[in-house]
Amino acid sequence: MDPKRFIASHVVDLPKSGIRDFFEIVAKMKNVISLGIGEPDFDTPWHIREAAIYALEKGKTHYTSNLGLIELRRAISRYVERNFSVGYKPEDEIIVTVGVSEALDLAFRALLNPGEKVLYHQPCYVSYHPSVTLVHGIGVPVPTFAKDNFALTAEALAAAWQPGCKILVLNLPCNPTGGTCNRQQIEAIAKFAVEKDLLVLSDEIYSELTFEGEHVSIASMPGMKERTIFLHGFSKAFAMTGWRIGYACGPSVLIEAMMKVHQYSMMCASIISQEGAIEALLRGEDGMKAMRDQYHRRRDFVVRRFNEIGLPCHLPRGSFYTFPNVAVTGKTEREFAIGLLEAERVAVVPGTAFGANGAGFVRACFATSYEQLIEATDRIDRYVQSLRSGNK
Ligand code: PLP
Repeated sequence: MDPKRFIASHVVDLPKSGIRDFFEIVAKMKNVISLGIGEPDFDTPWHIREAAIYALEKGKTHYTSNLGLIELRRAISRYVERNFSVGYKPEDEIIVTVGVSEALDLAFRALLNPGEKVLYHQPCYVSYHPSVTLVHGIGVPVPTFAKDNFALTAEALAAAWQPGCKILVLNLPCNPTGGTCNRQQIEAIAKFAVEKDLLVLSDEIYSELTFEGEHVSIASMPGMKERTIFLHGFSKAFAMTGWRIGYACGPSVLIEAMMKVHQYSMMCASIISQEGAIEALLRGEDGMKAMRDQYHRRRDFVVRRFNEIGLPCHLPRGSFYTFPNVAVTGKTEREFAIGLLEAERVAVVPGTAFGANGAGFVRACFATSYEQLIEATDRIDRYVQSLRSGNK
């Protein structure tokens, strides 16, 4: 008897993440410099860890409200108002979740009926399409291009739109491209969302890691708060990936719908992580800015090196990812990534792990030490030169 027949058909058809697939190969190798995994190399700042330890010492070991600790929701409300210019009521417009991952899942489960469509710009974070498929929705990718620094344009959105589209997912700055949109571009996207009556899920998890220009939240645009769910978390800016803590803000009826799903699945986010998150919001800004300064320096170095090496690379305005063009070497992104790994022991992720529009590119994450980045780019240089001499 084959137990596989018990698996739901839409899960059988779900592809495994292209990143995991690739890193199974990496895990079997020695002396690899990984520019692959998208998480800070910094440990969580000590004062945040200490707040969680102290919470445990005080016996904070119980369930919290389904929406999360009210002190945390108050801190989130102040933080979002100060940094994103949009106000949410802590009582019923904010829900604390197990990372942005859970917030995304809750939103899709609470809002999508089977067969409804979700627009998202691509290349994009690996979870968007599968999360839509898991609730029997249909994903509609909208391409972004290197020539636009991977900003999403209203023209591309209009070209991709189809009847039945209900939700637009935005991720600015974007994983994997580091692309983002300026105020005029966001205004045009907002106008399009109103015209087509779309609800926007705005995943702003990399917003603190914006290196130049202002970060503009679509939720702050006139008329958008009522049609936007703002998603944010602590993983990237505060180096808290393992804590699994994030949040969603939006109109109270939508937050309540998400809360129903959360209540029956997760119940609440870990209280210890919630206590750490309060500390991060109240006193974590200096530590966050110090990490951002490090990322900024690394970004400038890596982008300069890629362009010197002959892999055209736009300047990502935010996030900790670069997305250089490797098609210029005559290899596909997968051939390039596997060849680089085998020849020089450097791991980057083939761009197609982030959707078909990532063809010809690889993602290289610079959330690793400056010294490692010097060594990694020297190795990449050697590999590209060897391809060039081999191609002659
Ligand atoms: N959204 C984007 C765009 C991401 O890149 C990631 C993680 O890589 C997540 C969400 C997941 O974040 P969290 O750790 O808060 O679940």
